[in-house]
Amino acid sequence: MAQDSGVHDGPMAADAKPDPTLIAFLRERDAPCPVCSYNLRGLAASKCPECAAPLHLEVGSSSLRLGPLVLAIVSFALAAGFDLIVGGFFAVGSLMSSIRGSLASWLGPALVAGVLGAAGLGCLAGIVLLVRRRAWWNRLGRRRQWAAAWTTFACVGVGHAVLGAVLFAVLA
Ligand SMILES: [Zn+2]
Repeated sequence: MAQDSGVHDGPMAADAKPDPTLIAFLRERDAPCPVCSYNLRGLAASKCPECAAPLHLEVGSSSLRLGPLVLAIVSFALAAGFDLIVGGFFAVGSLMSSIRGSLASWLGPALVAGVLGAAGLGCLAGIVLLVRRRAWWNRLGRRRQWAAAWTTFACVGVGHAVLGAVLFAVLA
């Protein structure tokens, strides 16, 4: 993770020092340039002869791919966005009803605003947790990450369907 881009090396550093390990690795192997896909077999310097991108050898892991994490975060983010926007509308509605003075008319919208606000903040907390527990997530491995991500997606979806139904039943 710490040195995945090579940006901090700059092209000068790559030109100045051909990495012998990289050169040896590519002597007998076909490997595409990660930037332009040019075949780097037989590379003589630590940069791509086609696009001049600086190159380095690194150990990768499929556990670091972002797909499952993005799915989990997007699940929470969509729900949080919906909850907070719709909750905000109900809060404004409640405020306007309370100005007109009838208790019964503002209590319902206030309840919806409170529940949606809490749900939205809960989803935001889920995003913060995922980002802060990144090392734990990475160690789950690819298969369990996808399982956790789809479980998050399903739980957030079903949770909101249930929440909507309960609110509708209480208020209707
Ligand atoms: Zn290239």
